[in-house]
Amino acid sequence: MSQANIRNIEFDLPAASPGATGNTCAVGRAWARVPEDLPGAQREALKARIRGLLARENAVLVAHYYVDAELQELADETGGCVADSLEMARFGRDNPAHTLVVAGVRFMGETAKILSPGKRVLMPDLEATCSLDLGCPAEAFAAFCDAHPDRSVVVYANTSAAVKARADWTVTSSIGLDIVAHLHARGEKILWAPDRHLGAYIQRQTGADMLLWQGSCLVHDEFKGIELELLRGQYPQAKVLVHPESPMAVVAQADVVGSTTQLIEAAQKLDASHFIVATDQGILHKLRLRAPGKTFIAAPTAGNSATCKSCAHCPWMAMNSLANLADALERGRGEILLDPALGARAKVPIDRMLDFAAHLSRGVRASGDLARDTALFANIGPA
Ligand code: SF4
Repeated sequence: MSQANIRNIEFDLPAASPGATGNTCAVGRAWARVPEDLPGAQREALKARIRGLLARENAVLVAHYYVDAELQELADETGGCVADSLEMARFGRDNPAHTLVVAGVRFMGETAKILSPGKRVLMPDLEATCSLDLGCPAEAFAAFCDAHPDRSVVVYANTSAAVKARADWTVTSSIGLDIVAHLHARGEKILWAPDRHLGAYIQRQTGADMLLWQGSCLVHDEFKGIELELLRGQYPQAKVLVHPESPMAVVAQADVVGSTTQLIEAAQKLDASHFIVATDQGILHKLRLRAPGKTFIAAPTAGNSATCKSCAHCPWMAMNSLANLADALERGRGEILLDPALGARAKVPIDRMLDFAAHLSRGVRASGDLARDTALFANIGPA
């Protein structure tokens, strides 16, 4: 592989020194492969090959909203799914296919394997990772937990299987707020990891006692509050859609704060023609499909202090390509292998979240009222 195909990346690496207000960050270093740009005819040939291979291998393609538009289209047209990480996990678990091909980043493939240990899980590139996962090493995190044994451990899905195995609850951005509200109503204190912005947002919304790990998403951390304010001045009629991994100055200007799925639904429902979008730009493909005729404007990552580490597109999500997807299916390359005992332990907090989500889908929501919520979630035992 030539050096030209490698992109060097810096990310927040929280120090493993637990304190009353969480830990401080150093600079971590990682890399991402940049896929080759292929001509149209070659891409069409690859798509045809992938369709055939999915059928041959009894496989289904499960893609995240942030991957390349052509991969999303392939997933949709072949009976797979394009979704946020909660729905990807559910879809993979419930689909009868023997092989799940997860186009996303490594923790998504691991989550699929944890929930479906009997299925083969392939990824186009096993080295596609996430700054939140990298910024929360299992041993350092375990030390953090050990120092605060009185707290319920709630970890975001963007973590390794080993970190999940240490948790009481796993959450995604679409359900984290409800789960923390529920735990807070039960009088529990929370140890939260790894995203500091999402943790702080949930803390503000719920009033829960939360101790935060200080990781961040290198895409969302770059959105800039002052530049967003200037852009809103140019489009005063636009609604602002923000993913809660963004900094507080950006979240504070949002009309809607939510997971990728929740932002797409908001764009469909809201009576507005223009939207400013503060999340990975991979989502624009689905937004334009679901809300045709509306205009979507990328929230700014540029500005005085900008370094444009990601330019609003995740370098690891971008590692998923037609070529490596076809190769994974053809040769069975990129298989997620997980120690079964670790997988079984990591499954407990994910199952707890999915059970909770099943209650929510039946219209059950945490109210913040301890007596009421205890009855509502009677089947979801203490963590
Ligand atoms: S967009 Fe952010 S949270 Fe998502 S995989 Fe990339 S680095 Fe991780």
